[in-house]
Amino acid sequence: PNHAKVDVVVIGAGPAGTVAASYLKKQGYDVTILEKEKFPRFQIGESLLPCCMEHLDESGLLEAVIPKNFQKKTGAAFMRGENRCEFFFSEQFTKGWTWTWQVKRADFDLTLAEATRAKGVAVNFECEVLNVTCSKDKQIVDYKDIDGNKFTIEAKFIIDSSGYGRVLPRLFDLSKPSAFSPRGAIFAHLEDKNRTEKASNNIFVHSFDDNKSWIWAIPFSDGSTSVGVVGNREKIEEMAENGGEKYKNFIREFEDLKGRFKSSKLKWEPKHILGYSVGVKQMYGEGFVLSGNSTEFLDPIFSSGVTFATASGLLSAKMTHKHLQGETVDWKKEYEDVVQGGINVFRSYVSGWYTGDFQTIVFAQQINEEIKNQICSVLAGYVWDQSNPFVKKHDTILSTLAKVIKMKESPKADL
Ligand code: FAD
Repeated sequence: PNHAKVDVVVIGAGPAGTVAASYLKKQGYDVTILEKEKFPRFQIGESLLPCCMEHLDESGLLEAVIPKNFQKKTGAAFMRGENRCEFFFSEQFTKGWTWTWQVKRADFDLTLAEATRAKGVAVNFECEVLNVTCSKDKQIVDYKDIDGNKFTIEAKFIIDSSGYGRVLPRLFDLSKPSAFSPRGAIFAHLEDKNRTEKASNNIFVHSFDDNKSWIWAIPFSDGSTSVGVVGNREKIEEMAENGGEKYKNFIREFEDLKGRFKSSKLKWEPKHILGYSVGVKQMYGEGFVLSGNSTEFLDPIFSSGVTFATASGLLSAKMTHKHLQGETVDWKKEYEDVVQGGINVFRSYVSGWYTGDFQTIVFAQQINEEIKNQICSVLAGYVWDQSNPFVKKHDTILSTLAKVIKMKESPKADL
């Protein structure tokens, strides 16, 4: 009796897994999610991008999230010392969503998981996937529950949405190192009594240390705010020592925060995470596909993680549907190249952030409105719109433009 048979097993009940499962349920499949943790559980990744609203909508999950009244996010503000640049998602090149939310992931992911279950997906918490054997038509998944009882479930197809767990990349040796230098982040949720209206509607990102480090401030609807510091590994390790003492002092004293968190109480002791950037050799194989963070994760700077999770969750489900209908799927072309294409756009922006080209552009004395709107669409997650030159020419456009701006602003320096 502990050998069940279903159409699709989804590993992980984060945004990628719930979007994939909900979409497939809508097409009439028998879907089971196996999730290691008990929800609600903490997860990092709290600032969403407007583009992910489309994926939530298409998978039928958006209406469950709306009544939760999460903090509305209408833009992103970048700062460095006296430099300021505010992007409004209402002023975009690509036609799309003009707002999204900033969420405590414990609440958000629970909402998605409950809504997915309400659609008829079997969502099994505290079930950890241990082993997977794949073949053309029959996939075998071994898992254990919280009491250590072992089970086997058989599926026609598997979607791995196990995020940082990276179940199939680990089992099938699919991971590859990231080209980015190893960074880390330390963060906590804090009281935020000095929050302005602008700080409520935006993510605030402060660049410092010659663009090598930065701080996020992500506001929540209950008046608290997530504050994180990102920097090279050694810096974050040092900040994390003695219960995050240096982190606490740093965010209280950091000049550009202007005392916003000077006397704020922390809701919990700071957590830190190191070396999160990782790549993948291939995003699919016989009987399975990877989605969300179990594919590639670049860097948190542009808050793209959840949007990639929902985008790839949705597309992986569409391709699974096609496959299960007996049609041929070109997984490389129809799935991996599409997901990778979006990741590659963000890769250029992440690189541009750490080289400082992005800052040179957004903090320029003058920024052309059309250019700003085109960059805004990338920041909103619309990275598949090839009519946007800041998408299409992502690999060269930032450095070229930054060079022009530098020449204009200090012509002598370039002689
Ligand atoms: P997850 O949300 O990680 O869900 C995967 C689920 O799989 C988990 O619940 C896990 O318990 C489960 N699982 C794991 N192993 C197993 C197993 N063996 N069996 C069963 N279940 C398993 N993204 C943003 O969009 N905005 C941000 O502001 C942002 N900030 C970030 C800051 C930092 C410092 C970092 C490192 C990342 C940030 N991200 C951000 C990225 C974000 O955390 C991820 O991209 C996102 O959570 C990926 O969603 P997912 O559904 O792929 O995986």
